[in-house]
Amino acid sequence: MKEKLRLLPKVDAVLEREEVKGLLNSYPRWVVVEALRHIIEEKRKSILSGVDIPVSEDSVVEELVENIHKFSLPSLRRVINATGVVLHTNLGRAPLAEEALRAIVEVSSGYSNLEYDVEKGKRGLRYTHVVELLRKITGCEDALVVNNNAGAVYLVLNTLASGKEVIVSRGELIEIGGSFRIPDVMRSAGAILKEVGTTNKTKLSDYKNAITERTALILKVHTSNYRIVGFTESVPLKDLVKLGREYGIPVYEDLGSGLFVDVRRFGLPYEPTVKESMRAGVDVVSFSGDKLLGGTQAGIILGKKEYVERIKKNPMNRALRIDKLTLSALEATFRIYMEGEEAAIAKIPVLSMLAEPLERLRERAERVVDELKDLDGYSFEVLRDLSTVGGGALPTAEIYTYCVAIAGKQRCDEIEEMLRRRPKVPVVGRIKNDRVLLDMRTVREQEVGLLIESVKEALS
Ligand SMILES: *Cc1c(COP(=O)(O)O)cnc(C)c1O
Repeated sequence: MKEKLRLLPKVDAVLEREEVKGLLNSYPRWVVVEALRHIIEEKRKSILSGVDIPVSEDSVVEELVENIHKFSLPSLRRVINATGVVLHTNLGRAPLAEEALRAIVEVSSGYSNLEYDVEKGKRGLRYTHVVELLRKITGCEDALVVNNNAGAVYLVLNTLASGKEVIVSRGELIEIGGSFRIPDVMRSAGAILKEVGTTNKTKLSDYKNAITERTALILKVHTSNYRIVGFTESVPLKDLVKLGREYGIPVYEDLGSGLFVDVRRFGLPYEPTVKESMRAGVDVVSFSGDKLLGGTQAGIILGKKEYVERIKKNPMNRALRIDKLTLSALEATFRIYMEGEEAAIAKIPVLSMLAEPLERLRERAERVVDELKDLDGYSFEVLRDLSTVGGGALPTAEIYTYCVAIAGKQRCDEIEEMLRRRPKVPVVGRIKNDRVLLDMRTVREQEVGLLIESVKEALS
């Protein structure tokens, strides 16, 4: 063992080899050095655990040449989402519209008027770029965009209810994921939770009886990621607004997913839209930019001017502020919504995917099967199944879809792993009934070629 360890080549020596010098023409030196260190270290570990492996300089060079491309890949890279989960939080939620991507490049390749009023030649505010659009789309008085909706919830509670009580229904004390739980956020924002009603039923009188001189806010949380069915009752937003008016208490709604279109047109269950909240007279509403809205990660706060002004002035707003890349993409996305619902469905990927006709998905699946059917040792079949919306939205909704079902000589979890561990473009599918399914709902037309290439590479 000692002898073998001693024979392991040194990084500097390998760098002097002609083949390795050749690699330096195509790869940065640091990548080659890192790759070499990694390969030698792995060999050292193998020797120490008693595995017999080649330790010559030649063997190291050979491994380096074969694997260098893997070491040059960035850590954060594109994957093909074949899970059928349209808003997959782990896969980056919403893909962006072409216009949004172009706006990012245009605005961030050079300088921009991010906080500069070119008319007046004076300092401006970054939020102004989207306020007018949001007014037109939703009918709000004023708007503020921040890092994400979790940040928005924190900021609203901290501004309007620090040291005071916030009334919430027990049926709405939800966890979004990670450590984002309404009672915990409330506490860290300095607000005091005043829970009312029961898990399945909360009445207007429950809210009314909880109002005291310490009450600062009535909060309604859209239970976006779970449903209570059966013997249930909750208070409509407009009744809470009426109650709030009576007592001079603002009403804030955390909508979760911000919808500018009614998703029932896609055959999905009813989800409240932002416009409806505004029409109900809510004082403040907040929602995510990258859920069903189909934009970038952001928290969008809309509402009455007097409240939004106060929220803007909260010092924590600076800590949660939106960056120029996000803002430019968000503005471009809102401008698409200004063109109308049909344009939004055609141009915003999340909406396009939800709206795509079943027939087209079947045709896509057939095309993929046709390209793959000659791969030895595997069978490919077009299969009708169900996709989900994901992203903590519409938890009970299921949408028909078509998949490519793969079975073969390995176990299905091994096939799933081979597809996922592609160095260039990983393909993430799902397993059902001992087969790997590639769901065409989330594989977009322009990705089909790449999908076929990746699957062929993985399975041949
Ligand atoms: C998703 C969600 C959030 C958190 O939004 P992010 O943009 O992911 O931070 C907060 N509240 C509700 C109701 C949600 O559905």
